[in-house]
Amino acid sequence: MTENLIKLKPSELYEILAESNESPYRIRQIHKWIWGKSSNNINSFSDLPKGFREFMAKKYHIERAEISSVVHSVDGAIKFLIKFENLDQVEAVFIPEEGRNTVCVSSQVGCPLKCTFCATGSLGYRRNLGFFEILEQVRIVRDYVKTRITNVVFMGMGEPLLNYSEVVEAARILNDSSTFGVGSRKITISTSGIIPGIRKLENEPEQFKLAVSLNSAVQGKREKLMPVAKKFPLEELKKVLMEYYEKKRRWITFEYILIPEVNDSHEDLEALIDYTNAIPSKLNLIPYNPHPYATFRAPTDQEIEYFLKKLRRYIKRAVTLRKSKGQDIQGACGQLAYFVKSKE
Ligand code: SAH
Ligand code: SF4
Repeated sequence: MTENLIKLKPSELYEILAESNESPYRIRQIHKWIWGKSSNNINSFSDLPKGFREFMAKKYHIERAEISSVVHSVDGAIKFLIKFENLDQVEAVFIPEEGRNTVCVSSQVGCPLKCTFCATGSLGYRRNLGFFEILEQVRIVRDYVKTRITNVVFMGMGEPLLNYSEVVEAARILNDSSTFGVGSRKITISTSGIIPGIRKLENEPEQFKLAVSLNSAVQGKREKLMPVAKKFPLEELKKVLMEYYEKKRRWITFEYILIPEVNDSHEDLEALIDYTNAIPSKLNLIPYNPHPYATFRAPTDQEIEYFLKKLRRYIKRAVTLRKSKGQDIQGACGQLAYFVKSKE
């Protein structure tokens, strides 16, 4: 049995190259064929020396993830259900916008954190994805839409900072011009606030963008919405985010899902303003996207307008409104929940 070449980390390729007296720059050549050109035939890696290519083809093969289904939204978003070797499935979403093409990727099969408003969280957790399974999502989407991918957001299924090393490995390869060439500043890692992960990320040389799902700046309320907040409380999170900013000099993006009667009171607004004003950040307001796994309702246009107007008056920095694309195909933020359905 030969091994699947796409599973080899750069460090493993490095070892193999060293043993064959080949230069490490060949890692990028191999990546160009695997990720840049989607080649499935090691013998066609034409810029590798013939002998080395033949040696590799004897020991390795290439096996890809597959598309299980594709659903097109009326607004241009496309949702992909992607199946891996062991039959686990995750969702990835293509979001075309003026001047950019974003892929929203999953980092885990399900999510262990069980935020009450999130479809993924309400359905449980199976496992972390490997770096190559994250890259496969972007590759499959790129090849399907036949356009260059300019942005990648880790906002699909799962908590990326609970799968730290695979996520960062994938982000690094995405960034390489021989593969996808997505700028590091255009790769967003969105977290529910996993403090050890944020601390590690601040020491990485790349300028990946950090987004933090806040959803409430009131500790007790945040704990109810996001149980992980008990472990990583708001005050400690604030300190860590300040340190992150000091080190990286990059603004943090806070995400706040607006859920009527849950986190839209006067007290919620004041807490949110105080919290975000203390940290160099931008705030992204996301109207709650309804789905069958929670009983919350979506805010009306008036409710969104009211909250947004108040925020814009009192928040020092930028406040944006994100109208998620793909709602009609259950492909918007927090609506991804396919894998359990497939088990039933
Ligand atoms: N686990 C990470 C990344 C995946 S969740 C995180 O929590 O940040 C991606 C985004 O979807 C988060 O910002 C989350 O707050 C948001 N989200 C979850 N459920 C949602 C819903 N029902 N409506 C709108 N946004 C939702
Ligand atoms: Fe997990 Fe993020 Fe969903 Fe929370 S919002 S359950 S952390 S995917």
